[in-house]
Amino acid sequence: MSKASDAANAAMYAVEKTCELYGVETLRMQSRTVLVPGAAGRTRPLFFGQWRDQFGELHTRGMADLLLRPRVPMFDLMFKPGEYVLCYSPSEMAAIINRMKNVFVTVPVWVEVKSGRGEMRHDQHAFRNYVEWNGEVFFTIHEEMKPLTDWFDSHGVKQSNFPRIPKPVSVPVGEVADLPCRHCGDFKAQHTGTILACRLLHTGRVWSPKIPTK
Ligand SMILES: [Zn+2]
Repeated sequence: MSKASDAANAAMYAVEKTCELYGVETLRMQSRTVLVPGAAGRTRPLFFGQWRDQFGELHTRGMADLLLRPRVPMFDLMFKPGEYVLCYSPSEMAAIINRMKNVFVTVPVWVEVKSGRGEMRHDQHAFRNYVEWNGEVFFTIHEEMKPLTDWFDSHGVKQSNFPRIPKPVSVPVGEVADLPCRHCGDFKAQHTGTILACRLLHTGRVWSPKIPTK
């Protein structure tokens, strides 16, 4: 396997590992073309992951690598911390929280994994436009998982919402906060301020979990 595909596989694994830490189910979806034997000894292409865009055009390439299906608490979709207290009394709010804490909405989140500085191709941009047009979420992820973990954190997605048995294929890990920072090596709790800044020689960096890639 080439260096580039090794790097892409490691990044793919890191995304899947991140999802496992947050209790998020994933599917591999990327478009692929395979040549298979056809009539009269000729080969013919077989397309996986074909899709039709909002203008009706058929694409045989460009579907994102992964479809994540996080279950987002309805409460976190509707309220930002602190903003509701002006509108409701504490007892009304307690009743709302009590009712809504068990209501979840599954949000489609598409991830295109790029190794190094890899850029999206035309069909991949078209795919992004298509799913965002439909109100879905799209991320391009390089080595850095922080955009994804930020989205999960800010939408109340966590493993404890839906405890499940870890998948047997993976190395068991505990919580995201138990992983070392990819910049400074410290744990989450050892970072400072509300932005979770790295200490010492790593000024200008913020906490970002180092997800195992093997
Ligand atoms: Zn750090």
